[in-house]
Amino acid sequence: LETIAGISTDRLASFARREAEVYARARPKALKALKDGAGTFLGGVPMHWMADWPMPHLPLVAKARGARIEDIDGHTLDDFCLGDTGSMFGHSPPPVAKAIRAQARRGLTYMLPTEAALEAGRLLTHRFGPFRWQIATTATDANRFALRVARAITGRPKVLVFNGCYHGTVDDTFVSLENGRTVTSPGLLGQVNDPTQTAVCAEFNDLASVEAGLAQGDVAAILTEPVMTNSCMVLPEAGFHDGLRQLSRKYGALLIIDETHTISSGLGGYTRVHSLRPDIFVVGKCVAGGMPTAVWGLTDETARRYHEADAKREPGRTGMGTTLSANPMQFACLVATLSEVMTPDNYAHMEKLAERLSHGLAKTIYRHRAPWHVVRVGARVEFICAPGPLRNGTEAGMAHQPRVEAAIHTGLINRGTLIAPFHNMMLISPATKKAQVDRLIANFDTILTDLFQ
Ligand code: PMP
Repeated sequence: LETIAGISTDRLASFARREAEVYARARPKALKALKDGAGTFLGGVPMHWMADWPMPHLPLVAKARGARIEDIDGHTLDDFCLGDTGSMFGHSPPPVAKAIRAQARRGLTYMLPTEAALEAGRLLTHRFGPFRWQIATTATDANRFALRVARAITGRPKVLVFNGCYHGTVDDTFVSLENGRTVTSPGLLGQVNDPTQTAVCAEFNDLASVEAGLAQGDVAAILTEPVMTNSCMVLPEAGFHDGLRQLSRKYGALLIIDETHTISSGLGGYTRVHSLRPDIFVVGKCVAGGMPTAVWGLTDETARRYHEADAKREPGRTGMGTTLSANPMQFACLVATLSEVMTPDNYAHMEKLAERLSHGLAKTIYRHRAPWHVVRVGARVEFICAPGPLRNGTEAGMAHQPRVEAAIHTGLINRGTLIAPFHNMMLISPATKKAQVDRLIANFDTILTDLFQ
């Protein structure tokens, strides 16, 4: 009997077919609207990732509030995708919505700071630590600017990243490992320069491979997530982060921690919760409650070195900053989020329900004897259709089961639950209810009952 992730391929195929039919039948309005109106977009979607959702066609969202999304066909979904972390604190958190209404009367962008900007700086330092902050609009940009600073400070060309990483569409980071060698990641569109000239790839949880990458002395910075969240979910082994910190110092590279997803870990992100000591700290997506905003911050020592490098620079453009960044709407939303949304109470709620979800899914997997596992990082839960734990991007790459995952995602949507596409990530927001978590666990159980019968 041919199987995939422990499931008979025949059973999987018939399940996937049935679920696709159920989905399409239930959304005639969206189908018609898309047929009539999506043609103006390249490939029929306003952002090409949207074409990668696994359903037969996209739903059109009517509105979203808290942890629920409603589509134009009248279906209400419990939202565990939450914009892939952009809305980790729920859709339109009330303090953020209020801040938006107030700022909407005062102008949207002026390339000048406000009093709220100063308050946001104080709150960022209070929440994440004593960094010297800059505001960007996407985490991609924040990472790009952080890298530029690291190169300016060290005068070195390369960034060390981990196999299977994702830090946004940062050109430099699209490398992977092939038989231990750094190669250009497959699939890039229009790639003309050779990223292996400016990046070196190492394996997560493997300090020897990190040291080998640093040993040539041409690495400006290690750029890493505290947990690999874009390759299934790979947790750092004991001592890995300490080792990274020591090796980066030994070889004169900066350490950039990208908290864009691991902000789920708890107050102040994984860095605060686990006392990491990055030279540059980056976080985006939900940091302003869903208003497009990212922040990056330098330690005092890194800031001092930045000013030194900046003073030596020839007059001209730095290659950092964008016109709409650090706008007053971002500051209003940062203040609201940092002071009223990223609170101990909210994180406690998120943590508690995520624990319930993770436990419920693990129990279901065990009962069905599925060769799968569950990982949790604070409010972020992921089921992986392969045995665990996974140690690195290579193992995560092999654990990924796109066909199985696509079928399950559609099956979950048909039963009222939305999880993140492309992997199996579920987020708990402050607005998520216990009943929604229990519904997700029950839906997962129904699907596994069908698949593993
Ligand atoms: N860093 C990490 C860890 C991410 O996962 C992502 C996006 N998934 C980014 C940065 C980039 O964020 P954005 O797409 O908002 O630029």
